Amino acid sequence: MDTLSILNKISALTELYNEVENCKRCELYKSATRAVPGEGSEKAEIMFIGEGPGWNEDQQGRPFVGTAGKFLDQLIASIGMKREQVYIANIVKHRPPGNRDPLPSEITACSIWLDRQIEIINPRMIVTLGRHSMARYFPNKTISKIHGTYEKRNGVIYFAMYHPAAALHQQKLRVEIEKDMLKIPALLDEAADPPKENEDPQQLSMF
Ligand code: URA
Repeated sequence: MDTLSILNKISALTELYNEVENCKRCELYKSATRAVPGEGSEKAEIMFIGEGPGWNEDQQGRPFVGTAGKFLDQLIASIGMKREQVYIANIVKHRPPGNRDPLPSEITACSIWLDRQIEIINPRMIVTLGRHSMARYFPNKTISKIHGTYEKRNGVIYFAMYHPAAALHQQKLRVEIEKDMLKIPALLDEAADPPKENEDPQQLSMF
C-alpha cells in the first residue's frame, strides 16, 4: 500500500471517529460514558467485529479492553499476530445500558459506521464474534452450527466465531473458539487466491 493510500485511510478514519463520538442516531449515547468507534491498523487484513462496548470499553473508549478483550488478545497471539496488526470494531458504538443486547433499531442506526469502517479498511477477512455480529452476515443461521465455517463473497472471507466472553467461562466453547481461531491463517491465504476455474467468485462456502 502506498503512502498516499495510508494517509487517506488515516484521515478517513479520524473523521469517522469524530463523527461517531458525536453520534446521536439512537438513544444509546445518552447513557454511555464514551463512544467506542473501533481501533486497529489501517492496513489490517482481518477485521474482528464484536457486539458492543461493555463497562471497561465504555470507560476507556476502546474496544475489547476488558476480560473478553484479554482473551481476544491471546487468541490473536495464538496465530502469531498482534492486536495492533488487526482491526477491531463493534456492531454498536455506544454501550447498551446494563450490557443488554443491542436493539434491532440501534443496530440499524449504527450500521452506517461499520459500513464505512469496512469500506476504508477493505479487509480480506471479516471475523464475526458472537450472535449479533454473525447475524449481520449470516442471517437466520445458528452460531453453534456455523462457527468455524466461512463464506467467500466478492473476494472477502466471512468467518463466524463464538464471542470470546461466552467462550471464556465455558470450557467446551473455549476449546471451539481456540480451534476456530487457528483456521484463520489458512483462510487469509485463501482470500488472497484468485477464484479457481469452475469456481463461482461470488460465493464459496464450507457450509
Ligand atoms: N464485547 C464486545 O462485543 N465488544 C467489546 O468491545 C467488548 C466486549
